[in-house]
Amino acid sequence: MQLESINPATGDVVGVVPVTAPQDVAAVVARARAAQPAWEALGPRGRADLLRRAGPTFLERAAALGELLSREMGKPLREGVGEVRSVGHLDGELEEMIQAFEPVILQDGRTVTEYRHDPLGVCAALTPFNFPASMISWMALPALMAGNTVVLKPSEETPLIAQAYVDVFNEVLPPDVLSIVHGGAEQGRALVSADVDMIAFTGSRETGRHILCAAAPGLKRVMLELGGKDPLVVLDDADVAQAADFAVRNSFRNAGQVCVSTERIYVQEAVAEAFEAAVVAGCQALVQGPWDLEGVAVGPMIHARQRDHVLRQIDEAVAAGATVAAGGVGHRGNFVAPTVLCGVDHSMSIMRDETFGPVACIVRVSTEEEAVTLANDSPYGLGAVVFGSDEERAAGVARRIRAGMVGINRGVGGASGSPWVGAKESGLGFHGGVDGHRQFSQARIVSRRASP
Ligand code: NAD
Repeated sequence: MQLESINPATGDVVGVVPVTAPQDVAAVVARARAAQPAWEALGPRGRADLLRRAGPTFLERAAALGELLSREMGKPLREGVGEVRSVGHLDGELEEMIQAFEPVILQDGRTVTEYRHDPLGVCAALTPFNFPASMISWMALPALMAGNTVVLKPSEETPLIAQAYVDVFNEVLPPDVLSIVHGGAEQGRALVSADVDMIAFTGSRETGRHILCAAAPGLKRVMLELGGKDPLVVLDDADVAQAADFAVRNSFRNAGQVCVSTERIYVQEAVAEAFEAAVVAGCQALVQGPWDLEGVAVGPMIHARQRDHVLRQIDEAVAAGATVAAGGVGHRGNFVAPTVLCGVDHSMSIMRDETFGPVACIVRVSTEEEAVTLANDSPYGLGAVVFGSDEERAAGVARRIRAGMVGINRGVGGASGSPWVGAKESGLGFHGGVDGHRQFSQARIVSRRASP
Protein backbone atom coordinates (compact mmCIF):
# COMPACT_ATOMS: atom_id res chain seq x y z
CA MET A 1 0.00 0.00 0.00
CA GLN A 2 1.15 3.53 -0.71
CA LEU A 3 0.77 6.71 1.32
CA GLU A 4 0.11 9.73 -0.89
CA SER A 5 1.52 13.10 0.05
CA ILE A 6 -0.92 15.81 -1.00
CA ASN A 7 -0.16 19.45 -1.78
CA PRO A 8 -2.66 21.16 0.55
CA ALA A 9 -2.97 24.21 -1.74
CA THR A 10 -3.99 22.28 -4.84
CA GLY A 11 -4.92 18.73 -3.84
CA ASP A 12 -2.26 17.39 -6.26
CA VAL A 13 -0.26 14.32 -5.30
CA VAL A 14 3.34 15.40 -4.54
CA GLY A 15 4.65 11.84 -4.21
CA VAL A 16 4.16 8.52 -2.49
CA VAL A 17 5.91 6.34 0.07
CA PRO A 18 5.19 2.73 0.99
CA VAL A 19 2.98 2.40 4.08
CA THR A 20 4.51 0.20 6.79
CA ALA A 21 2.14 -2.63 7.68
CA PRO A 22 1.45 -2.40 11.45
CA GLN A 23 2.52 -6.02 11.88
CA ASP A 24 5.94 -5.15 10.39
CA VAL A 25 6.73 -2.45 12.96
CA ALA A 26 8.03 -4.96 15.53
CA ALA A 27 10.66 -6.19 13.06
CA VAL A 28 11.87 -2.61 12.42
CA VAL A 29 12.19 -2.11 16.18
CA ALA A 30 14.03 -5.44 16.54
CA ARG A 31 16.59 -4.35 13.92
CA ALA A 32 17.00 -1.02 15.73
CA ARG A 33 17.61 -2.90 18.96
CA ALA A 34 20.23 -5.12 17.33
CA ALA A 35 22.05 -2.03 15.99
CA GLN A 36 22.05 -0.19 19.34
CA PRO A 37 25.08 -1.69 21.19
CA ALA A 38 27.53 -0.81 18.41
CA TRP A 39 26.06 2.69 18.18
CA GLU A 40 26.39 3.12 21.96
CA ALA A 41 29.99 1.88 21.83
CA LEU A 42 31.00 4.85 19.67
CA GLY A 43 30.56 7.21 22.64
CA PRO A 44 29.22 10.78 22.35
CA ARG A 45 32.14 12.11 20.31
CA GLY A 46 32.14 9.19 17.91
CA ARG A 47 28.42 9.54 17.35
CA ALA A 48 28.73 13.29 16.84
CA ASP A 49 31.50 12.76 14.28
CA LEU A 50 29.18 10.64 12.14
CA LEU A 51 26.06 12.75 12.58
CA ARG A 52 27.99 15.94 11.81
CA ARG A 53 28.72 14.70 8.28
CA ALA A 54 25.04 15.07 7.34
CA GLY A 55 25.02 18.82 8.01
CA PRO A 56 26.64 19.99 4.76
CA THR A 57 24.30 17.76 2.73
CA PHE A 58 21.22 19.52 4.12
CA LEU A 59 22.81 22.87 3.33
CA GLU A 60 23.79 21.83 -0.23
CA ARG A 61 20.32 20.41 -0.95
CA ALA A 62 18.37 23.12 0.92
CA ALA A 63 16.76 24.52 -2.24
CA ALA A 64 15.41 21.17 -3.45
CA LEU A 65 14.47 19.81 -0.03
CA GLY A 66 12.92 23.14 0.97
CA GLU A 67 10.75 23.04 -2.15
CA LEU A 68 9.67 19.48 -1.35
CA LEU A 69 8.81 20.52 2.22
CA SER A 70 6.79 23.53 1.03
CA ARG A 71 4.95 21.56 -1.63
CA GLU A 72 3.73 18.93 0.78
CA MET A 73 3.19 21.15 3.85
CA GLY A 74 2.05 24.37 2.18
CA LYS A 75 4.32 26.94 3.82
CA PRO A 76 6.01 29.65 1.71
CA LEU A 77 9.14 28.46 -0.11
CA ARG A 78 11.40 30.85 1.81
CA GLU A 79 10.27 29.25 5.08
CA GLY A 80 10.61 25.70 3.75
CA VAL A 81 14.20 26.37 2.64
CA GLY A 82 14.92 28.11 5.95
CA GLU A 83 13.68 25.10 7.89
CA VAL A 84 15.91 22.68 5.95
CA ARG A 85 18.90 24.97 6.42
CA SER A 86 18.22 25.11 10.16
CA VAL A 87 18.43 21.32 10.47
CA GLY A 88 21.75 21.40 8.60
CA HIS A 89 23.42 23.63 11.21
CA LEU A 90 24.45 20.78 13.48
CA ASP A 91 27.76 21.82 15.00
CA GLY A 92 26.58 23.89 17.98
CA GLU A 93 23.83 21.41 18.87
CA LEU A 94 26.17 18.44 18.70
CA GLU A 95 28.76 20.13 20.93
CA GLU A 96 26.07 20.83 23.54
CA MET A 97 24.94 17.20 23.33
CA ILE A 98 28.49 15.90 23.80
CA GLN A 99 28.61 17.96 26.97
CA ALA A 100 25.25 16.49 28.05
CA PHE A 101 26.27 12.88 27.52
CA GLU A 102 29.88 12.74 28.66
CA PRO A 103 30.14 11.40 32.22
CA VAL A 104 30.49 13.96 35.01
CA ILE A 105 32.88 13.12 37.86
CA LEU A 106 31.69 14.02 41.35
CA GLN A 107 34.01 13.64 44.28
CA ASP A 108 34.02 14.13 48.03
CA GLY A 109 36.56 12.98 50.61
CA ARG A 110 35.47 9.33 50.53
CA THR A 111 33.78 8.70 47.22
CA VAL A 112 34.37 9.20 43.50
CA THR A 113 31.20 9.02 41.45
CA GLU A 114 30.69 8.83 37.73
CA TYR A 115 27.37 10.56 37.02
CA ARG A 116 26.49 9.00 33.69
CA HIS A 117 23.79 9.59 31.11
CA ASP A 118 23.57 6.28 29.32
CA PRO A 119 21.31 5.21 26.47
CA LEU A 120 17.87 3.83 27.16
CA GLY A 121 17.87 1.52 24.13
CA VAL A 122 15.42 2.12 21.29
CA CYS A 123 13.59 5.44 21.10
CA ALA A 124 10.36 5.88 19.16
CA ALA A 125 10.00 9.42 17.79
CA LEU A 126 6.56 10.54 16.60
CA THR A 127 6.34 13.93 14.92
CA PRO A 128 3.74 16.41 13.61
CA PHE A 129 3.27 18.03 10.21
CA ASN A 130 3.79 21.71 10.94
CA PHE A 131 7.61 21.86 11.04
CA PRO A 132 8.11 18.52 9.35
CA ALA A 133 11.91 18.62 9.26
CA SER A 134 12.89 20.52 12.41
CA MET A 135 10.48 18.62 14.66
CA ILE A 136 12.24 15.41 13.62
CA SER A 137 15.60 16.93 14.49
CA TRP A 138 14.37 18.10 17.88
CA MET A 139 13.44 14.52 18.83
CA ALA A 140 15.83 12.32 16.85
CA LEU A 141 19.10 14.18 17.32
CA PRO A 142 19.27 14.14 21.14
CA ALA A 143 17.91 10.58 21.16
CA LEU A 144 20.68 9.44 18.80
CA MET A 145 23.38 11.42 20.56
CA ALA A 146 22.36 9.77 23.85
CA GLY A 147 23.29 6.46 22.21
CA ASN A 148 19.81 5.21 21.46
CA THR A 149 18.77 3.98 18.07
CA VAL A 150 15.66 5.70 16.75
CA VAL A 151 12.55 4.58 14.92
CA LEU A 152 10.74 7.59 13.49
CA LYS A 153 7.01 7.75 12.69
CA PRO A 154 6.54 11.11 10.98
CA SER A 155 3.21 12.77 10.24
CA GLU A 156 1.26 11.04 7.50
CA GLU A 157 0.77 14.52 5.98
CA THR A 158 4.48 15.09 5.40
CA PRO A 159 6.10 11.72 4.69
CA LEU A 160 8.31 12.84 1.79
CA ILE A 161 10.42 15.40 3.64
CA ALA A 162 10.66 12.94 6.56
CA GLN A 163 11.92 10.22 4.24
CA ALA A 164 14.41 12.67 2.71
CA TYR A 165 15.62 13.62 6.20
CA VAL A 166 16.22 9.98 7.13
CA ASP A 167 17.87 9.29 3.76
CA VAL A 168 20.39 12.12 4.27
CA PHE A 169 21.40 10.76 7.69
CA ASN A 170 21.51 7.21 6.38
CA GLU A 171 24.20 8.26 3.92
CA VAL A 172 26.50 8.60 6.97
CA LEU A 173 25.03 6.34 9.70
CA PRO A 174 25.35 2.57 10.15
CA PRO A 175 22.24 0.61 9.12
CA ASP A 176 19.20 0.60 11.43
CA VAL A 177 20.48 3.39 13.68
CA LEU A 178 17.77 5.70 12.31
CA SER A 179 14.78 4.02 10.67
CA ILE A 180 11.36 5.16 9.60
CA VAL A 181 7.88 3.71 9.57
CA HIS A 182 5.22 5.39 7.47
CA GLY A 183 1.51 5.62 8.12
CA GLY A 184 -1.01 7.25 10.44
CA ALA A 185 -2.41 6.64 13.90
CA GLU A 186 -2.46 2.86 13.41
CA GLN A 187 1.29 2.76 12.73
CA GLY A 188 1.84 5.21 15.60
CA ARG A 189 -0.02 2.91 17.97
CA ALA A 190 1.94 -0.10 16.72
CA LEU A 191 5.21 1.72 17.32
CA VAL A 192 4.48 2.94 20.85
CA SER A 193 3.29 -0.52 21.90
CA ALA A 194 6.30 -2.26 20.31
CA ASP A 195 9.47 -3.12 22.25
CA VAL A 196 10.73 0.47 22.56
CA ASP A 197 12.28 1.96 25.70
CA MET A 198 11.32 5.57 25.18
CA ILE A 199 8.60 7.46 23.33
CA ALA A 200 9.39 11.02 22.27
CA PHE A 201 6.30 12.70 20.90
CA THR A 202 5.49 16.12 19.49
CA GLY A 203 1.88 16.66 18.51
CA SER A 204 -1.58 17.35 19.84
CA ARG A 205 -2.68 17.09 23.45
CA GLU A 206 -5.26 14.48 22.50
CA THR A 207 -2.70 12.16 20.89
CA GLY A 208 -0.35 12.83 23.81
CA ARG A 209 -2.96 11.40 26.17
CA HIS A 210 -3.25 8.22 24.07
CA ILE A 211 0.51 7.85 24.07
CA LEU A 212 0.79 8.25 27.83
CA CYS A 213 -1.82 5.51 28.31
CA ALA A 214 -0.07 3.25 25.80
CA ALA A 215 3.25 3.75 27.61
CA ALA A 216 1.88 2.96 31.06
CA PRO A 217 1.83 -0.87 31.04
CA GLY A 218 5.55 -1.05 30.22
CA LEU A 219 6.41 2.09 32.23
CA LYS A 220 8.18 3.36 29.11
CA ARG A 221 9.94 6.68 29.36
CA VAL A 222 7.84 9.40 27.73
CA MET A 223 8.56 12.92 26.54
CA LEU A 224 5.57 14.88 25.26
CA GLU A 225 5.62 18.29 23.52
CA LEU A 226 1.96 19.14 23.04
CA GLY A 227 -0.35 21.87 21.84
CA GLY A 228 -0.78 25.39 23.12
CA LYS A 229 -3.22 28.26 23.40
CA ASP A 230 -0.66 31.01 23.82
CA PRO A 231 -1.76 34.37 25.21
CA LEU A 232 -0.33 37.76 24.25
CA VAL A 233 -0.80 40.49 26.85
CA VAL A 234 -0.54 44.09 25.61
CA LEU A 235 -0.15 46.48 28.55
CA ASP A 236 -1.31 50.09 28.37
CA ASP A 237 2.28 51.41 28.12
CA ALA A 238 3.19 49.07 25.24
CA ASP A 239 4.64 50.29 21.95
CA VAL A 240 1.43 49.63 20.05
CA ALA A 241 3.03 49.39 16.60
CA GLN A 242 5.57 46.82 17.80
CA ALA A 243 2.97 44.82 19.70
CA ALA A 244 0.62 44.77 16.70
CA ASP A 245 3.45 43.83 14.36
CA PHE A 246 4.29 40.90 16.63
CA ALA A 247 0.61 39.90 16.93
CA VAL A 248 0.25 39.77 13.15
CA ARG A 249 3.46 37.82 12.59
CA ASN A 250 2.78 35.36 15.38
CA SER A 251 -0.92 34.81 14.66
CA PHE A 252 -0.55 34.19 10.93
CA ARG A 253 2.90 32.64 10.48
CA ASN A 254 2.65 29.15 8.97
CA ALA A 255 -1.09 29.94 8.66
CA GLY A 256 -1.29 29.80 12.46
CA GLN A 257 -0.11 26.18 12.45
CA VAL A 258 2.59 26.79 15.05
CA CYS A 259 2.47 25.39 18.58
CA VAL A 260 3.45 28.82 19.97
CA SER A 261 1.15 30.84 17.72
CA THR A 262 -0.56 33.75 19.41
CA GLU A 263 -4.05 32.30 19.93
CA ARG A 264 -5.46 34.76 22.49
CA ILE A 265 -4.78 38.49 22.82
CA TYR A 266 -5.58 40.55 25.94
CA VAL A 267 -5.10 44.26 25.41
CA GLN A 268 -5.64 47.01 27.97
CA GLU A 269 -8.44 49.39 27.06
CA ALA A 270 -6.29 52.54 26.85
CA VAL A 271 -4.45 51.20 23.78
CA ALA A 272 -7.06 48.75 22.49
CA GLU A 273 -8.48 50.83 19.66
CA ALA A 274 -5.09 51.72 18.18
CA PHE A 275 -3.86 48.14 18.64
CA GLU A 276 -6.89 46.58 16.97
CA ALA A 277 -6.64 48.98 14.03
CA ALA A 278 -2.95 48.14 13.55
CA VAL A 279 -3.62 44.38 13.72
CA VAL A 280 -6.44 44.70 11.19
CA ALA A 281 -4.20 46.72 8.83
CA GLY A 282 -1.39 44.19 9.20
CA CYS A 283 -3.75 41.29 8.59
CA GLN A 284 -5.24 42.88 5.48
CA ALA A 285 -1.77 43.45 4.01
CA LEU A 286 -0.87 39.74 4.09
CA VAL A 287 -0.68 37.87 0.80
CA GLN A 288 -2.28 34.44 0.93
CA GLY A 289 -1.64 31.68 -1.55
CA PRO A 290 0.36 28.57 -2.45
CA TRP A 291 3.99 28.03 -1.47
CA ASP A 292 5.41 29.38 -4.74
CA LEU A 293 3.35 32.58 -5.05
CA GLU A 294 5.51 35.73 -5.14
CA GLY A 295 5.38 37.51 -1.75
CA VAL A 296 3.15 34.89 -0.14
CA ALA A 297 2.96 35.02 3.66
CA VAL A 298 0.03 32.76 4.53
CA GLY A 299 -0.54 29.31 3.06
CA PRO A 300 -3.40 26.81 3.38
CA MET A 301 -4.49 24.60 6.27
CA ILE A 302 -2.84 21.20 6.09
CA HIS A 303 -6.10 19.44 5.19
CA ALA A 304 -9.86 19.90 4.96
CA ARG A 305 -10.49 18.61 8.52
CA GLN A 306 -8.25 21.34 9.93
CA ARG A 307 -9.93 23.97 7.72
CA ASP A 308 -13.37 22.83 8.92
CA HIS A 309 -12.25 22.96 12.56
CA VAL A 310 -11.01 26.57 12.21
CA LEU A 311 -14.09 27.71 10.29
CA ARG A 312 -16.38 26.06 12.84
CA GLN A 313 -14.63 27.92 15.68
CA ILE A 314 -14.97 31.24 13.80
CA ASP A 315 -18.66 30.64 13.00
CA GLU A 316 -19.47 29.67 16.59
CA ALA A 317 -17.67 32.73 17.96
CA VAL A 318 -19.52 35.04 15.57
CA ALA A 319 -22.84 33.40 16.43
CA ALA A 320 -22.05 34.02 20.13
CA GLY A 321 -21.38 37.73 19.58
CA ALA A 322 -17.79 38.15 18.33
CA THR A 323 -17.23 40.76 15.63
CA VAL A 324 -15.20 40.14 12.49
CA ALA A 325 -12.72 43.02 12.15
CA ALA A 326 -10.85 41.54 9.18
CA GLY A 327 -11.21 38.47 6.95
CA GLY A 328 -13.91 36.05 7.96
CA VAL A 329 -14.97 35.60 4.35
CA GLY A 330 -13.36 34.51 1.09
CA HIS A 331 -12.14 31.13 2.28
CA ARG A 332 -11.49 28.80 -0.66
CA GLY A 333 -10.22 25.25 -0.83
CA ASN A 334 -8.05 24.57 2.21
CA PHE A 335 -7.31 28.28 2.60
CA VAL A 336 -8.80 30.07 5.60
CA ALA A 337 -8.62 33.83 5.00
CA PRO A 338 -6.55 35.57 7.72
CA THR A 339 -9.17 36.74 10.20
CA VAL A 340 -9.27 39.13 13.17
CA LEU A 341 -12.04 38.65 15.74
CA CYS A 342 -12.83 41.23 18.43
CA GLY A 343 -15.18 40.97 21.36
CA VAL A 344 -14.45 37.29 21.97
CA ASP A 345 -14.68 35.70 25.43
CA HIS A 346 -13.87 32.47 27.22
CA SER A 347 -17.31 30.98 26.67
CA MET A 348 -16.24 30.45 23.05
CA SER A 349 -14.34 27.40 21.81
CA ILE A 350 -11.98 29.70 19.88
CA MET A 351 -10.67 30.99 23.24
CA ARG A 352 -10.49 27.62 24.93
CA ASP A 353 -9.44 24.98 22.40
CA GLU A 354 -6.35 25.10 20.21
CA THR A 355 -7.25 26.70 16.86
CA PHE A 356 -4.06 26.12 14.84
CA GLY A 357 -5.28 28.49 12.13
CA PRO A 358 -4.82 32.07 10.88
CA VAL A 359 -7.07 33.84 13.39
CA ALA A 360 -6.22 36.66 15.82
CA CYS A 361 -8.69 36.87 18.72
CA ILE A 362 -8.70 40.09 20.72
CA VAL A 363 -10.20 40.72 24.17
CA ARG A 364 -10.15 44.16 25.83
CA VAL A 365 -9.25 44.10 29.53
CA SER A 366 -9.27 46.91 32.08
CA THR A 367 -6.43 45.85 34.40
CA GLU A 368 -3.24 43.82 34.16
CA GLU A 369 -4.69 41.57 36.87
CA GLU A 370 -7.61 40.73 34.60
CA ALA A 371 -5.15 39.99 31.76
CA VAL A 372 -3.15 37.61 33.98
CA THR A 373 -6.28 35.85 35.24
CA LEU A 374 -7.58 35.31 31.70
CA ALA A 375 -4.15 34.30 30.37
CA ASN A 376 -4.01 31.61 33.08
CA ASP A 377 -7.56 30.45 32.41
CA SER A 378 -6.46 27.58 30.16
CA PRO A 379 -5.30 24.00 30.60
CA TYR A 380 -2.48 24.79 28.17
CA GLY A 381 0.78 26.41 29.22
CA LEU A 382 3.25 26.38 26.35
CA GLY A 383 4.26 29.97 25.58
CA ALA A 384 3.08 33.48 26.46
CA VAL A 385 4.19 36.97 25.45
CA VAL A 386 3.88 40.31 27.25
CA PHE A 387 4.37 43.70 25.61
CA GLY A 388 4.97 46.79 27.76
CA SER A 389 7.47 49.65 27.77
CA ASP A 390 8.24 49.40 31.49
CA GLU A 391 10.21 46.15 31.32
CA GLU A 392 10.08 45.59 35.11
CA ARG A 393 6.31 45.83 35.08
CA ALA A 394 6.09 43.56 32.01
CA ALA A 395 8.47 41.08 33.68
CA GLY A 396 6.22 41.09 36.77
CA VAL A 397 3.26 40.16 34.57
CA ALA A 398 5.36 37.53 32.75
CA ARG A 399 6.27 35.85 36.04
CA ARG A 400 2.60 35.48 36.95
CA ILE A 401 1.64 33.73 33.70
CA ARG A 402 1.84 29.96 34.06
CA ALA A 403 3.56 29.04 30.81
CA GLY A 404 6.77 27.14 30.12
CA MET A 405 8.24 29.96 28.02
CA VAL A 406 7.43 33.66 28.26
CA GLY A 407 8.75 36.39 25.96
CA ILE A 408 8.87 40.06 26.99
CA ASN A 409 8.54 42.42 24.02
CA ARG A 410 9.56 39.51 21.79
CA GLY A 411 8.57 35.94 20.98
CA VAL A 412 9.20 32.90 23.15
CA GLY A 413 12.30 30.74 23.03
CA GLY A 414 15.43 31.48 25.01
CA ALA A 415 19.10 32.18 24.46
CA SER A 416 21.06 29.23 23.09
CA GLY A 417 21.29 26.53 25.73
CA SER A 418 17.68 27.12 26.89
CA PRO A 419 15.30 24.19 26.71
CA TRP A 420 11.93 24.27 24.92
CA VAL A 421 9.36 23.77 27.66
CA GLY A 422 5.61 23.34 27.92
CA ALA A 423 3.90 23.74 31.29
CA LYS A 424 0.53 22.34 32.40
CA GLU A 425 -1.10 20.19 29.69
CA SER A 426 1.26 21.45 26.99
CA GLY A 427 4.01 19.03 27.84
CA LEU A 428 5.52 16.34 29.97
CA GLY A 429 9.28 16.56 30.19
CA PHE A 430 11.02 18.80 27.70
CA HIS A 431 13.88 18.87 25.24
CA GLY A 432 16.68 21.24 24.28
CA GLY A 433 19.63 22.48 26.29
CA VAL A 434 21.75 20.13 28.39
CA ASP A 435 18.88 19.30 30.77
CA GLY A 436 16.53 18.54 27.86
CA HIS A 437 19.05 16.39 25.99
CA ARG A 438 19.56 14.29 29.11
CA GLN A 439 15.89 13.32 29.15
CA PHE A 440 16.68 10.97 26.29
CA SER A 441 19.05 9.03 28.54
CA GLN A 442 19.12 6.93 31.69
CA ALA A 443 20.88 8.69 34.55
CA ARG A 444 23.24 6.32 36.39
CA ILE A 445 25.46 6.74 39.40
CA VAL A 446 28.61 4.57 39.48
CA SER A 447 30.69 5.06 42.62
CA ARG A 448 33.92 3.77 44.11
CA ARG A 449 36.09 4.63 47.09
CA ALA A 450 38.35 7.62 46.66
CA SER A 451 42.00 6.70 46.85
CA PRO A 452 43.49 7.73 50.18
P1 NAD B 1 -1.18 14.80 15.87
O1 NAD B 1 -1.22 14.59 17.34
O2 NAD B 1 -2.42 14.62 15.10
O3 NAD B 1 -0.10 13.81 15.19
C1 NAD B 1 1.24 13.77 15.60
C2 NAD B 1 1.80 12.39 15.28
O4 NAD B 1 1.16 11.39 16.07
C3 NAD B 1 1.61 11.97 13.84
O5 NAD B 1 2.78 11.31 13.40
C4 NAD B 1 0.42 11.01 13.92
O6 NAD B 1 0.37 10.07 12.87
C5 NAD B 1 0.69 10.33 15.24
N1 NAD B 1 -0.50 9.74 15.90
C6 NAD B 1 -1.79 10.11 15.79
N2 NAD B 1 -2.57 9.37 16.61
C7 NAD B 1 -1.75 8.50 17.26
C8 NAD B 1 -1.92 7.50 18.25
N3 NAD B 1 -3.12 7.22 18.76
N4 NAD B 1 -0.83 6.84 18.70
C9 NAD B 1 0.39 7.13 18.24
N5 NAD B 1 0.63 8.07 17.29
C10 NAD B 1 -0.42 8.75 16.81
O7 NAD B 1 -0.57 16.26 15.66
P2 NAD B 1 -0.46 17.11 14.28
O8 NAD B 1 -1.82 17.53 13.86
O9 NAD B 1 0.44 16.44 13.32
O10 NAD B 1 0.35 18.40 14.84
C11 NAD B 1 -0.25 19.51 15.39
C12 NAD B 1 -0.15 19.49 16.91
O11 NAD B 1 1.21 19.41 17.33
C13 NAD B 1 -0.67 20.77 17.53
O12 NAD B 1 -1.44 20.46 18.66
C14 NAD B 1 0.60 21.52 17.91
O13 NAD B 1 0.43 22.48 18.93
C15 NAD B 1 1.49 20.40 18.31
N6 NAD B 1 2.91 20.79 18.29
C16 NAD B 1 3.57 21.01 19.49
C17 NAD B 1 4.89 21.42 19.49
C18 NAD B 1 5.64 21.70 20.78
O14 NAD B 1 6.83 21.94 20.73
N7 NAD B 1 5.00 21.67 21.94
C19 NAD B 1 5.55 21.61 18.28
C20 NAD B 1 4.86 21.37 17.08
C21 NAD B 1 3.54 20.96 17.10
